[in-house]
Amino acid sequence: MSQSDVQVERDDAPRTKFVLDEGRIPKSWYNIIADLPVPPEPVLHPGTGQPIGPGDLAPLFPMALIRQEVSGEREIEIPEPVREAYRLYRPTPLIRARRLEKVLDTPAHIYFKYEGVSPAGSHKPNTAIAQAFFNKEEGTKRIATETGAGQWGSALAFAASLFDLESKVYMVRASYDQKPYRRILMETYGAEVVPSPSPTTNYGRKVLEESPDNPGSLGIAISEAVEDAATRDDTKYSLGSVLNHVLLHQTVIGQEAIEQMAMAGDDPDIVIACAGGGSNFAGIAFPFLGLNFRGGRKRRVIAVEPKAAPSMTQGVYAYDFGDTGKLTPLVKMYTLGSDFIPAPIHAGGLRYHGMAPLVSLLKNHGDIEAAAVNQGEAFAAAVAFARAEGILPAPESAHAIRVAIDEAAKAKASGESKVILFNLSGHGHFDLSAYEKFLQGSLPDYEYTPNEAALAALPKV
Ligand SMILES: *Cc1c(COP(=O)(O)O)cnc(C)c1O
Repeated sequence: MSQSDVQVERDDAPRTKFVLDEGRIPKSWYNIIADLPVPPEPVLHPGTGQPIGPGDLAPLFPMALIRQEVSGEREIEIPEPVREAYRLYRPTPLIRARRLEKVLDTPAHIYFKYEGVSPAGSHKPNTAIAQAFFNKEEGTKRIATETGAGQWGSALAFAASLFDLESKVYMVRASYDQKPYRRILMETYGAEVVPSPSPTTNYGRKVLEESPDNPGSLGIAISEAVEDAATRDDTKYSLGSVLNHVLLHQTVIGQEAIEQMAMAGDDPDIVIACAGGGSNFAGIAFPFLGLNFRGGRKRRVIAVEPKAAPSMTQGVYAYDFGDTGKLTPLVKMYTLGSDFIPAPIHAGGLRYHGMAPLVSLLKNHGDIEAAAVNQGEAFAAAVAFARAEGILPAPESAHAIRVAIDEAAKAKASGESKVILFNLSGHGHFDLSAYEKFLQGSLPDYEYTPNEAALAALPKV
């Protein structure tokens, strides 16, 4: 059949998917530091309490990432090899959830940006690819990192394989034992995965001596990966959230979404994302906040955290460590205390004691809102979403869906047609046992009780 035999017919039915051509992958990352209404707080050395310099971070990160961490430039160019790797799954689709709107009988327009189409199944490769690239360029041979339920570890293992780097992943023991499939995915990409606490680091050995059956935590795993990188010349450390450069890399999400919302002929009144360390939230929200700050109309922006680890809604805004071993620099953030170990909710990516300093700053300054939801409410929203739209959300993303559905209900009650955009940060194909528990009615909710000891142990600066 020759080309001319093909009849292309276009209908003018209302659009559901807004898809950009590969050429529309952003050419730069958006650095919100250029537009902040208040300057960021300095990062402090854990020993001296003085602001740290690039040299302090050099054992852990390549210089290119350290420069991005402190840059004040609004646009930072995305190197071509990174854009080329992004082409494996970017631009990601923006979808209007028309069926969910119908089920909810709401006048609101509900859109979601779907990051679950990446090979690892979440937004995390957006920064893993960039970090692997800059490490490769500066001669790193091996990357050490931590992972909770395994989403970050699988993104990093995938990115390391693209750039021919070795990867070592310290995986929180409880997940290592209960959720073998993410581990197998990491190993398939070529990573070495050990349960944390592990006997292979000083900090891991110390924890195991004190409590041989310790189920581990993200804070402990970070300490082990940092120690690994700090004590080996061929190895650097990589973090999947929280840091400025990680949030920066995620801004491809929001930049694409701005273009896609324009294609849809809508502009969001409310932008919503879940927040564990804050990276997928920053990814979708920062480019819209940049528009707000540069004099555009004011869009509401909501970060959704779990009630089991409510750093922004119940924590304190203070300097704290990023890890349990107290090895990392001190950053000013909303925190529950670095000794706080969140309850074992299924949204593993949201089980963190702190929040990204940039997200914390914006919350403290009143530029963004925070909401907290229980895992039962989140799963109920996820099931309603799956039945309407077909996609099975990650338990983390379900927290954003809960608030999007609640905002759509408010629009219905007030008769206002709001435009709601949320980030669907990943799919839940590795989380089916959590869905099974929810469907059986045996998924518990956990309320946060302040850990006075963890808060009292905050460093005095
Ligand atoms: C890791 C993860 C999160 C939480 O991390 P952030 O840095 O807050 O984005 C949210 N959703 C998914 C699917 C994740 O994998």
